[in-house]
Amino acid sequence: MTAHPDLLDLRAVASTAARDLIHLANRDDFDRIEATVERLAGCTRPIQLVGSTSTFDTTSGELLRQYSSAAEPLGRTLVACGNRRSTRCPSCSRVYAADTYQLIRAGLAGGKGTPDAVRTHPRVFVTLTAPSFGPVHNRPTTRTGKLVPCRCGVLHPAEHPALGTPIDPATYDYAGAVLFNAHAGALWARLTTYLRREVAHATGLSLKELRDHCRVSFAKVAEFQKRGLVHFHAIVRLDGPEGSTTAPPAWATTDLLTDAVRSAAAKVAVTVTGDSIGERVLRWGAQLDVRVIRRPDADDRDDTPLTDAAVAGYVAKYATKSAEGTGTVDRPLYCSPCKGRGRIPTDDGDTECRSCDGTGLAEPIADLKVAAHVRQMIRTCWDLGRRVTDFADLKLTKWAHMLGFRGHFSTKSRRYSTTLGTLRDVRRTWQSEQARIRAGLPLVDPDTTLVISDWRFLTTGYTPGEELLAQTVRDNRAATLRLKREGEAA
Ligand SMILES: [Zn+2]
Ligand SMILES: [Zn+2]
Ligand SMILES: [Zn+2]
Repeated sequence: MTAHPDLLDLRAVASTAARDLIHLANRDDFDRIEATVERLAGCTRPIQLVGSTSTFDTTSGELLRQYSSAAEPLGRTLVACGNRRSTRCPSCSRVYAADTYQLIRAGLAGGKGTPDAVRTHPRVFVTLTAPSFGPVHNRPTTRTGKLVPCRCGVLHPAEHPALGTPIDPATYDYAGAVLFNAHAGALWARLTTYLRREVAHATGLSLKELRDHCRVSFAKVAEFQKRGLVHFHAIVRLDGPEGSTTAPPAWATTDLLTDAVRSAAAKVAVTVTGDSIGERVLRWGAQLDVRVIRRPDADDRDDTPLTDAAVAGYVAKYATKSAEGTGTVDRPLYCSPCKGRGRIPTDDGDTECRSCDGTGLAEPIADLKVAAHVRQMIRTCWDLGRRVTDFADLKLTKWAHMLGFRGHFSTKSRRYSTTLGTLRDVRRTWQSEQARIRAGLPLVDPDTTLVISDWRFLTTGYTPGEELLAQTVRDNRAATLRLKREGEAA
């Protein structure tokens, strides 16, 4: 009998993991290995650390307790990777999404240290889009909602890969599109400034006077559209002078806020000049959506009330995404030895980088497995970014894989609500408290103790046997979630 080569490979891989698992299962401390993997909740690539944390009594100098990775079954401590992105680690990104949901929700409905009265503050949910850089394939509808063919004459099915891509790539303004992404953060920053100005203007106050009466708080999240352009969803809220803890003045209404957002967005413009492109004025697209977020105590006269939970869920969903929705690659494209310059400095001048043969690219753009439109966005970033005199500060070669966008995916103003860091601290404190209880250790007083930690990064990932255990954890969690959903649907 001749074995199929693929089957043979698969059997070899499976047996390595199985062999490792059998090896682990034969250890006396197997239950601790299982418990460790269980606690990582299915993390894809946990971080392996070695080191120790010692707690001393500051008066007597006595060592009160010590935790060391050497005491762990395999001599190292596993920590969840904590990655925000669902493509990198589905489990950790779910934790991130849950935290984001909590902090957005707290800013809308109160809780987690934000007073409940915040729900009575005027707030709107704004979607800021990019302008058009040339006609793209789409699914237009008539005023009555009837689907009509695209400008190219075809009635594209939903989810068709051509949607969002230019009808005529030769005339599409790729430079404009890339420069828009690269300035999206600057456009947003300007919007927040203009918004404060508009609110002040509407009430006859100066910007400086406004601060004594009213604060404009926001939380925003970036989303990549199919056409490879970034747009923002933002919660904008009017508060009293100290932020979420103080009541906004009586004149602060959702109508005033809506008008202020609209006029501010229309006024925002960033002028970009470069030898290769001349002068460009970048603005937000005309498609500006401003929706009032329903007060939980309001009666539902609105047909489609936008609730706190719906907005928080929406923001949390996008917070775990990157540019993958556009079908781009998830890694930087510049050659790392020469940092994309193509040349390496030496004692006498510089020489061509041997890793990339002077191209500055880690891999040729032509070889990337991406759609033609995405490839052209990447190529445009690369070409503009290599022109040292024009757009050096935009770091377009570094961010080519992000189609020029180098901003943060989610940000919020300081006074919006709690922070992700605070939520993480709460969870970490809870976890270390659980560890303390498990180990049967007494509580320590942070005022009379000194904690010394010394940790070193070892590597990432599991052993093949641990990976099998992690897969079981994931399967169990997925099954629990499915049962819960079915229970809710029933
Ligand atoms: Zn993870
Ligand atoms: Zn079309
Ligand atoms: Zn190189």
